[in-house]
Amino acid sequence: MTETASRDRPSRGRVHVVGAGLAGLSAALRLGKLGRPVALYEAASQAGGRCRSYVDAKLERSIDNGNHMLLAANTAALDFVAEIGAGDTLTRPDRAAFPFLDLASGESWTVEPSNGPIPWWIFSAARRIPGTAAGDYLAAWKLAFAGADDTVADCLAKSGGDNGPLWERFWVPLTVAALNTHPREASARLLWLVVRESFAKGAAACHPFIARDGLSETFVDPALAAIRAQGGAVAFGRRLRALTFQADRVTALDFGEQQVPVEPGEAVVLALPPAGAADLLPGLQAPRDARPIVNAHIRLPEGATPQRRLAPDLPILGLVGGAADWLFLRGDVVSLTVSAAEDLAERPAEEVAALLWRDTARALGLDSQAEPLVRIIKEKRATLAQTPAALKLRPGPRTRWRNLALAGDWTDTGYPATIESAVRSGTAAARLLAKP
Ligand SMILES: Cc1cc2nc3c(=O)[nH]c(=O)nc-3n(C[C@H](O)[C@H](O)[C@H](O)COP(=O)(O)OP(=O)(O)OC[C@H]3O[C@@H](n4cnc5c(N)ncnc54)[C@H](O)[C@@H]3O)c2cc1C
Repeated sequence: MTETASRDRPSRGRVHVVGAGLAGLSAALRLGKLGRPVALYEAASQAGGRCRSYVDAKLERSIDNGNHMLLAANTAALDFVAEIGAGDTLTRPDRAAFPFLDLASGESWTVEPSNGPIPWWIFSAARRIPGTAAGDYLAAWKLAFAGADDTVADCLAKSGGDNGPLWERFWVPLTVAALNTHPREASARLLWLVVRESFAKGAAACHPFIARDGLSETFVDPALAAIRAQGGAVAFGRRLRALTFQADRVTALDFGEQQVPVEPGEAVVLALPPAGAADLLPGLQAPRDARPIVNAHIRLPEGATPQRRLAPDLPILGLVGGAADWLFLRGDVVSLTVSAAEDLAERPAEEVAALLWRDTARALGLDSQAEPLVRIIKEKRATLAQTPAALKLRPGPRTRWRNLALAGDWTDTGYPATIESAVRSGTAAARLLAKP
C-alpha cells in the first residue's frame, strides 16, 4: 500500500463526533477505547441531548428533562453506565415489580413477572391485573407473528371498540412507555421485540433501573469525564451547519465561525436527531415523523406528606385512568410523564400543570387545592414515531461517504428509540469506522 493510501484509511486518524447526546457519547467512548483520537462537538452548551438534568430556577431543584427508566434487558445501556464508572448511581431494586394505580377506580396492583420464562404470574388471580383472565394474556403470541406493516392494535385490539382491562391496563401503558407511540399506530414487531427481550425472559430481564440523582449524573457527566480521560477534546456551542464532500469523502465541517478540515485518514460520526442529519446529508432518507413526551415536575408544598409511600429503592408508580402515565418521586419533587402526548403537548402549560397536579394529588393523597410550583417540559420531538412506515426509513450506520458514519437512537439498531438504541448506535458507528 502506498503511503498516501494508508494515510487515507479512515480506520487510523482522528474522528470528529458531532452531537453529544448518548449516541455521540457512546461513539466517542468506544472510539477512544479503540485508540482513536476523538473531537466531540455539541451545538448546545451542555451534553446529554434528550437525556439530561439541570437546575430549574423556578423549582430551585435539579430536575431531569423527563423521567427515564431502563430495564435489565437494556444490556448495552447498563454496560455503558458501568464502563463510565457510574453503575452505583443507578437504583437497584431487589424485585422486578411495577406498582400501578387506576386513578378513576382507585384499584391498585403490581405487575411482577415470574422468575424464568414461564409467566406463572398470569395464572394467579392475586397477581394478575384486576379484571383480566389468564387467557387474555395469551393473545400476546399474535405479536410474535406480526407482519412488517401490522400495528399493535391490528394484533391485539378487539373489533367493536371495547378492548377490555388488559388493553387499558397493560398493552396501552406498555406500548406508549416502550415506543412513545399509541398502539393504534405503533409497530407490532417492535413491541414484540420489547416483550421478547423483557417479559418473555422473566423477572431477571425486567428489573427496572432509574438514575438516583439525575440523568446527567448517571449518563452524561461521567461519560464526558471518561472521554476526556482518554484524551478526547469536547467543544460546546458548535452547531454543524454544512459538510464539504469530495468524491466519496467528507473533507470539512462548517461550524459557522469555525471551519474544521477533515484530513485524509480522519473520519466523522454524525450523531444528530434525524431531521438534522437529513438536512445536512444530501439524499439521506430518515424518519422525520416524531411523537412528543410531556413531563411535569412538581415541588411538593412544604409539609405535604404523600399518603401513598413509594418503595424507597424504586419510587415509581404507573398510572392509568387519568392523564399521566408514570409518577416518579425524588426528594420533594414529583415528576409525571405523559408519553405519546400529542394532545397535551398542544395545550397551554398552565392547563397541563393543573391536570397533572390533580393526578398527583389523587395518586399520593395530597390536598388538590394546594398550589405547588410546577415546571412543564414539552419535548415535542421526544422520539421518532415508531410506526411500521417510519421504521422502514431507519438507515444503518453506513453512508455513501466512506469516512462518515451515522449514529442516533433513530438509526436502524433494531431496538426502539431509547437509551439502549442510542448507545448501540454509537458503538456500531465506531466499529464501522474502525474497520481496516
Ligand atoms: C422526555 C423523554 C423521556 C424518555 N424516556 C426514556 C426512557 O424512559 N428510557 C429510555 O431508554 N429512553 C427514553 N427516552 C429516549 C432517550 O432520551 C433517547 O433515545 C436518547 O437520549 C437519544 O440520544 P441520541 O444521542 O440519539 O439523540 P439526542 O439526545 O437528541 O442527541 C443529539 C445531540 O445532537 C445535538 N445537535 C443537534 N443538531 C446539532 C448540530 N447541527 N451540530 C451539533 N450538535 C447538534 C443536540 O443538541 C443533541 O445534544 C426519553 C426521551 C425523552 C425526550
